[in-house]
Order: sequence, then structure tokens, then C-alpha cells
Amino acid sequence: MSDVLNGLALYAVRDDNSRGRRADEPRPKARSEFQRDRDRIIHSTAFRRLEYKTQVFVNHEGDLFRTRLTHSIEVAQIGRAIARALNLNDDLVEAVSLAHDLGHTPFGHAGQDALNECMREHGGFEHNLQSLRIVDQLEERYGAFDGLNLMYETREGILKHCSAKNARLLGDLGERFLGNQRPSLEAQICNLADEIAYNNHDIDDGLRSGLITLDQLEDVSLFARHAAEVRKEYPQITGRRMVHETIRRMIDTQVTDLLTETTRAITEARLESLGDVHAAPVLVSFSPAMQEENRLLKGFLREALYRHYQVLRMTNKARRIIRELFTAFLDEPRLLPPQYQAYAAEDKARAVADYVAGMTDRYAMKEHRRLFAVGEI
Ligand code: MG
Repeated sequence: MSDVLNGLALYAVRDDNSRGRRADEPRPKARSEFQRDRDRIIHSTAFRRLEYKTQVFVNHEGDLFRTRLTHSIEVAQIGRAIARALNLNDDLVEAVSLAHDLGHTPFGHAGQDALNECMREHGGFEHNLQSLRIVDQLEERYGAFDGLNLMYETREGILKHCSAKNARLLGDLGERFLGNQRPSLEAQICNLADEIAYNNHDIDDGLRSGLITLDQLEDVSLFARHAAEVRKEYPQITGRRMVHETIRRMIDTQVTDLLTETTRAITEARLESLGDVHAAPVLVSFSPAMQEENRLLKGFLREALYRHYQVLRMTNKARRIIRELFTAFLDEPRLLPPQYQAYAAEDKARAVADYVAGMTDRYAMKEHRRLFAVGEI
């Protein structure tokens, strides 16, 4: 860890050890290549749409719940703090974090499952692959190329999972899935920063919505022990302040645990280069004790929140909206906006999937009403 180059560890991703961009471009003047990637992502259309896409709660259900946009910003905050502490490339971590959910459909996981079902006969739909498709192909911002022409390592970080079948279609980016190689430590950080962010903010949103209670959380060790600490330090504390004091401690404990465990693993692996990272096992991780506490917390959230009947009513409706939109456009591609029609002539199902996946929650509802509501034009 003492060997650093420009403030970064020797095994960090840097401009000079990167595999670069697909289309050659002049180097940026006052920024690093990964700062430029981060900036391109922030200026993209898909990034702005994240504001109106569901994380757990549909955007219009309340103004204070997380959306995919605020979720992505929280992931970037946690990820950057971890990267900086480990002398890794925090600009890369920020870029990947801000882009990691770009490919999500409207209505969260329910929407993705429904679209995947619709696309079963046409190559399937997977949100990680769709995020990559957006930054590689779908964004229309540059004269010289499709997409954002991001650095290899940013694209590698965005493509978190991938089946062997899809990996074979992805060229150099698919190699690591077939050759059993690990992505950069920066990409590994983004995975766990995502997990820390949603586990904690879903407790906050869950409590705020009234779908879960503090009483229930007394059975979840990670929450209960930090809540006990807060009550000991501030015996009079109640309400939102108590919840926030608890959650900030949980985030701190998880990040600290991850830093301790990862520093140990990196030291033991004797990394000297980025190549060593690809060949080593996954090195960014929680301690076994924290992994177990996280497993229990996730199990609680799944049962108590994600499968709460009020959430299921919403996801059930969402699935139907996605299915019906997809079917209507597939049956009659002339219903698509003009810019999708030429594309639909080449690959009808994929054009429909791209159109539906790109919708925000409220646009999907509006489009559904326009197509199906009697008396509405
Ligand atoms: Mg996420």
C-alpha cells in the first residue's frame, strides 16, 4: 500500500494502464480520462431519467423516498470514500456508481422481470447489459460515435454480471467472465457500495412509509445494536433523529469493516499491478461476521418490505403495464414514435425493449393510458 504513483496504489486503474476507449479521441486537457467518463455520464439523457425511476417506491408515492438518481448518488458517495481510503481511483468509482443503474426499466425489479419475460424468445433483457448498451450504443450525443465512448474499465465496472452466452457476444469485455478473471478493485468497490447504500436507505424509506416498524427491526442485529448505542448516548432521542443516528452508524460500521477486511486481503495478495488484481480472487469484501449480519438484514427487507402486500400490489400492476406496453408495440410497431420505427424494421423486439426500458415510471403510466384507456387520446 505504500507504493503509490500520483497518489494511487500501483494496482489502481489509471489513465496509463487503462485499455482505453473503443474510438480514439484526443486526451482531455484539464481532466483525467475517468473524470471525463464521469462527466459524460452526468450529461447523458439516461442519467436524468433516473430521477423518475423507482428504487422501491414509485416516484409519485412520495417526495422524500429514494429514486434511482438519489440512490446512485449515495452509492457514489460511499464508493468514493472507500476508494480514497484505499488509494484507488475514486473518479472511476464515481463514474461506475453513477452509471450502474442506467439500464433499469421503469418500476424497479418488477419492471425488469416483466421485460425479461417478454424478451424470452428474443435474447432476454438484463439491466446490467442494458446499462452497457446505453453507454455503448443508445446515447446520441457525439458526431463521431454512438454512445458515450467510455473507458474500458468504466464499461467493465458497469457490466457487473453476465451469462457465458452473453459474454461470448461482448468481445474483450466478455473475456473476464469466460476466463475467470476479476474486474478492477474499483469495480468491486461499486458492488458493495451499492449494497451498503440500498440496505440502509431501504430501512429509512421503509420506516418513513410505515410499511416496516422500529419494533420489527429490533430482531435485526445490525440495526438493533446500533439503535441501542444511540439510545444509550441520547436517552431522550425519538423519531426521525433516532432513525438517522442509527443508520449513519450502520453505514460507518459497514464501511469500516469493509476497509479493514479489504486492506488485509490486499496486503496478503501482494498486489503489484492491475494485472495481479484480475488474477487474484475477489479482494473487496466484508468480514464473515458482517456478511452474516448483512444476510439477515437483506432477508428481513425482502420479507417485510419488498414482499409487503402494498409493495406487491404496486409491482403487480407495474408488471402488467410493462407486459401490455411491450405486447402492444410488438403487435403493431407503427404505434412506436417515428425515431424507433426504422430501428424496429431491423430488430423489432429489441427496439420495443429499448423504448419501454428507457421510460420513466410516469411516462410508462401515461403511455399505457394513451394506448389502453377508453376515452383518452
Ligand atoms: Mg443499485
